[in-house]
Amino acid sequence: MTRKKRRVIKPVKKVLPKILRCPRCGAISVIVKKQDDKWVVVCGNCGLRYEKPVTSQEYIDVYNEFVDAFNAGKIG
Ligand SMILES: [Zn+2]
Repeated sequence: MTRKKRRVIKPVKKVLPKILRCPRCGAISVIVKKQDDKWVVVCGNCGLRYEKPVTSQEYIDVYNEFVDAFNAGKIG
């Protein structure tokens, strides 16, 4: 029995930075994570926090919402 060699194709994924800039304090310490059934965006520096139910969005979209929410005065 001959074994077929399988070529392992690694998907090339762009690694985006998961630590982002905080719109309030300007520190690069905002982390976007999924926690249970929520998106949690939190700044490790000033504690600015944003939560929403988990969606099929990419974390970067959630981060953009977080920045928009901050700029609109909804958080912070
Ligand atoms: Zn901050």
